[in-house]
Amino acid sequence: MHFKTRAIHAGQAPDPHYGAVMTPIYQTSTFAFQDVNHPGTFDYSRSGNPTRQALEECLASLEGGTHGFAFATGMAAVATVLELFKQGDHLIVHDDIYGGTYRYLVSISQAHGVTFDFINLRDIPALRAAIKSNTRGIWTETPTNPLMNLLDLEAISAVAKEKGCLTICDNTFSSPYFQKPLDLGIDIVMHSMTKYINGHSDVVAGALIVRNAEIAEQLKFYQNAMGTCLGPFDSFLVLRGIKTLGLRMEEHQRNALALAAWLEDHPKIERVLHPGLPGHPQHALSQRQMSGHGGTFSFRVRGGEEEAFRLLRSVRVFTLAPSLGGVESLIGYPWTMSHDSMDEAVRIAVGITRNLIRVSVGLEHIDDLIADLQQALAHV
Ligand SMILES: *Cc1c(COP(=O)(O)O)cnc(C)c1O
Repeated sequence: MHFKTRAIHAGQAPDPHYGAVMTPIYQTSTFAFQDVNHPGTFDYSRSGNPTRQALEECLASLEGGTHGFAFATGMAAVATVLELFKQGDHLIVHDDIYGGTYRYLVSISQAHGVTFDFINLRDIPALRAAIKSNTRGIWTETPTNPLMNLLDLEAISAVAKEKGCLTICDNTFSSPYFQKPLDLGIDIVMHSMTKYINGHSDVVAGALIVRNAEIAEQLKFYQNAMGTCLGPFDSFLVLRGIKTLGLRMEEHQRNALALAAWLEDHPKIERVLHPGLPGHPQHALSQRQMSGHGGTFSFRVRGGEEEAFRLLRSVRVFTLAPSLGGVESLIGYPWTMSHDSMDEAVRIAVGITRNLIRVSVGLEHIDDLIADLQQALAHV
């Protein structure tokens, strides 16, 4: 069946007890045994819960996987998947990834004896050269935040398979509606469901999806052993959001592309970073690898910090806030809001400059969004 049908029905059959059409919230920590030593289908909500299971089956279906896992946050999903790597293992990590993932690796994984190299994975020969005898995994994220660079997942997976490394892709920015890393050879897909999958800025949640039973077994063990799972009520909220994922992504795409094209022609804008624009250096890869674009992109205003601040202080429809992927439009300042833990020189070297602005374009009417940036840019 098609994506939009599976988003509504996968894992979500009417409740067997009363026929409730919407998945009930099984807000319970524990489940009665049928007899001594005979639990029912579920025994304790950390190891499994019917509301969470409905969401996990839907996630597996939407990513084209066999097993899905829902976590308390995106970072809980990151922490859980990184448990697959042990003391002495080496990882290759793309050098332009979500700041929280970077922080987890350097402050927690490193202390556990996992080593890594940050490499620009757009450079496939550099990836090959960085693989060591103990390299066990490759961490990718595409498009990247906030610079909207793309990685060629098929090329990276091919190298990984040859060398026997696990590949992980943070697919948060595209959602499964526009990009399916498992189909491109990636082993494990990760999401912050806080963003597009839930889509309503009222939940923090994460996900992992695989199509390999052995990896699934390990992840299920760690999800239970670490206790990183998503609760029943939040699972219900994400299930409620996920039903409209396809519709929302199409509208996010339309609004963001229209706004990006308008900004490109504005005299106070130096550069728009959106892979859907023909001028983006990886536009061709985006056409091959993705079936569309989400609502998040960045741009540089002409000038520096002062010009950026004037714009950020003048918006009325856009809200100055971190995060992305919700129905409401947000605007952010990567220099301090998401990347201040990165060395200044590194920020500038990778392109996170003081005039860089990131927007998460929501589902308001496009004319109101353009009018808002037009009046805000008049203050610059
Ligand atoms: C937000 C985000 C995360 C972390 O997810 P949380 O739900 O905030 O824990 C990871 N990766 C990307 C790309 C994100 O945008």
